Amino acid sequence: MDNHITIFDTTLRDGEQSPGYSMNQQEKLRLALQLEKLGVDVIEAGFPIASDGDFETVREIGKVIKNSSVAALCRTRKIDLERAVASLEFAKKPRVHTFIATSDIHMKYKLQKSREEVLESAVQAVEYAKKHVDDVEFSAEDASRSDPEFLIDIFTAVIEAGATTINVPDTVGYAMPWEYGQLIKTLNEGIPNIDKATISVHCHNDLGVGVANSLMAIRNGARQVECTVNGIGERAGNASLEELVMALVTRKNIMDYTTSVNTKEIFPSSQLLAQITGKGVQPNKAVVGENAFAHEAGIHQHGVLKNPLTYEIMTPESVGLTCNKIVIGKHSGRFALCKKLEELGYHLNKEDLNQVYLKVTKVADEKKVVEEHDLISIMSMMNDMPARQPQSMASGG
Ligand SMILES: [Zn+2]
Repeated sequence: MDNHITIFDTTLRDGEQSPGYSMNQQEKLRLALQLEKLGVDVIEAGFPIASDGDFETVREIGKVIKNSSVAALCRTRKIDLERAVASLEFAKKPRVHTFIATSDIHMKYKLQKSREEVLESAVQAVEYAKKHVDDVEFSAEDASRSDPEFLIDIFTAVIEAGATTINVPDTVGYAMPWEYGQLIKTLNEGIPNIDKATISVHCHNDLGVGVANSLMAIRNGARQVECTVNGIGERAGNASLEELVMALVTRKNIMDYTTSVNTKEIFPSSQLLAQITGKGVQPNKAVVGENAFAHEAGIHQHGVLKNPLTYEIMTPESVGLTCNKIVIGKHSGRFALCKKLEELGYHLNKEDLNQVYLKVTKVADEKKVVEEHDLISIMSMMNDMPARQPQSMASGG
């Protein structure tokens, strides 16, 4: 089995439809170009039937994106499909992504359709899409709460109809990793024509296991993961792209998979999204949070400055951050302070350093974090200290 994992980014669709993350066309175009630079294989650009704006945006994205596939989402209704197909008119690599719910609860209360009717709708939708594009993805919405036997039937039928990717969403973020892994295994072994399609997963993070579920799915045969930058998305969000990719990169020793993502574009992508939406990333967010590479405890700082591998499992440079951030706080030691002062151009002897250290810990008690400008003003207030040497003013970042 091929070990390449297709990264399907849905920041512009699932991410964008969550409260507070709506973007206008220009903003979506900027982000789409950044996603292409990031190296994602598929950009889900929108849900064209939702509005004329969404339709136009998918069309415009299709015009500018050259390397990534551009996907348009649609339900299985004819009018949805027509809009999706039309929106992809200019895309170099168009993908139609059609979906219908397959769980008993959704079929009964939302669709009011029987299993047979749902299966028939799915097959007709895929057949229609296949007449217009080669690349067709079918999603069984709420798959993790669907009867696996029915999933096998419907996936077998849509592959027969031409689907090249079958998606198994944990729409409501309900599955546990081992359970979800088992479902993927059951499908991989039970669908007779699975060799003609790629298994995809789409995990929500309601219980905080979106990435863990995606990794378990990969172990059990999934080769496409749907995810978003900064993990944004409906409710608690989707599996986070940066966490998934860096897990694969960092633990390659036990997970021998590849992706096309240029990890150095991870941080710039995260920052661009935050800047466009005005929604910052939580400071302790894995990989891209502002504290993800910050070390405040003195013993950690000492270790990291001597050798980053003491407390860092991946380097900040590998995700596009230029420098790890040493925060001077009350838990910092003299060693980190000395390094920080050197960066700022101050070279102190031990005695002076002790004096400054006492002053800094006082400020840290009041302010929690001592920033560069605090250090500079502390230094300027200290008498008999050596002057700053501007030539060595390297920025700490
Ligand atoms: Zn979703």
